[in-house]
Amino acid sequence: MLGPSDWSEMLDYDREHVWHPYAPLPPLLRPLPVVAASGVRLRLANGRELIDGMSSWWSAIWGYRHPAIDAALHEQLQRFSHVMFGGLTHAPAVQLAERLASLAPPGLTQVFFADSGSVSVEVALKAAVQYQRERGRAGRHRFLALSGAYHGDTLGAMSVCDPVGGMHHLFAEALPPQVFAARPPAPHRSVKAWEAQLRKVAAEHDDQLAAIVAEPVVQGAGGMWFYEPDCLRIMREVADEHSLLLVFDEIATGFGRTGTMFASQRATSAVPDIMCVGKAMTGGYLTMAAMLCTQDVSSTISGGEAGCLMHGPTFMANPLACAAALASTGLLLDGSWQARVHATQAVLADGLAPATRLDHVLDVRVLGAIGVVQLGHEVDVAAATGAAVARGVWLRPFRDLVYTMPPYICTEDEVGRIADAVVAAAAAG
Ligand SMILES: *Cc1c(COP(=O)(O)O)cnc(C)c1O
Repeated sequence: MLGPSDWSEMLDYDREHVWHPYAPLPPLLRPLPVVAASGVRLRLANGRELIDGMSSWWSAIWGYRHPAIDAALHEQLQRFSHVMFGGLTHAPAVQLAERLASLAPPGLTQVFFADSGSVSVEVALKAAVQYQRERGRAGRHRFLALSGAYHGDTLGAMSVCDPVGGMHHLFAEALPPQVFAARPPAPHRSVKAWEAQLRKVAAEHDDQLAAIVAEPVVQGAGGMWFYEPDCLRIMREVADEHSLLLVFDEIATGFGRTGTMFASQRATSAVPDIMCVGKAMTGGYLTMAAMLCTQDVSSTISGGEAGCLMHGPTFMANPLACAAALASTGLLLDGSWQARVHATQAVLADGLAPATRLDHVLDVRVLGAIGVVQLGHEVDVAAATGAAVARGVWLRPFRDLVYTMPPYICTEDEVGRIADAVVAAAAAG
């Protein structure tokens, strides 16, 4: 067996046999071997330490080896790691459901635990179809989604991702065809034209549509695009006018990342019927997500033909994941995250400003603890990550974007170092 002492053999094996996300096999670039992580730092096999500017894809909001989350997992490990959720229940699941409902916008009291963000989106789509059917609207099985969206990698979730960025043509026969509205306008821009197009598309297809699906305010992996929060109110109105459910995917934006607990809370009159959460929910410790919905949705489905929501993963409500999520969400309760996210926003705004002077930079934008530098061309990922790593920071650019969403526990100095690395990566890439 390969041992941790022979890293070069281990990396050769990785290269030949192990898929990495959205990468060919073998990959074009060698991944960096991580041997330890604590606080906001990753330690590599060669002894180097990198500040994690990615929070492991939005999830490790409290960094690594946080004492409260470590302790919660140890404690649950002493009791049991997993039991099936069919016919059985346990305290971590019930407590977590109560916690999520208490943090969520009003009315989202019913909780379905899923094993990943993509699966929670699948569950949300299926719930919307079942809901419409039980309301006597069986022809409504399609979704109105937004250009530039990203909702996950399974087929149903992919079908509501941006058709071009999500390469729908590769899967043309396999994906259910959905209906798309334009990408919402940037903050402070007029929403008039967008609103008119959304209303038109909804009216044209309303006898086929089950729900509107959107990432509120920040479109993440579809292009790190920020949009005017008033668009959420418009989506709510359009959904109500056409008897559609409104599904908000807060998997990336939830738990404080944009400066409010959930991004949808930037628009006071835009509470969804269904909300998906994931990523930061377990503090990045374990894979888990959830679909929250209103009692109207849950009782309509439950009183219908199937008598249940037609989904039930093997590892539903995994107790270890629930324990990690209870601890991670528990760290949000004292509200101190808000000041940290605001401080991070200020440091990122200052620190990324020099990027606006680079010739090939199109846009620099910051919202909450999210900082984005958009280039006029595809990023040279090797050059950009190399420049960041040389500054002791881990970044993972994609497409034309060099971006960061630091762990909330970063000091202002650490956020400043990340911002410098983003600028250097943008200059190099
Ligand atoms: C990451 C992400 C997903 C998918 O979550 P996975 O856990 O990777 O399946 C869905 N929606 C949004 C907005 C995301 O950022």
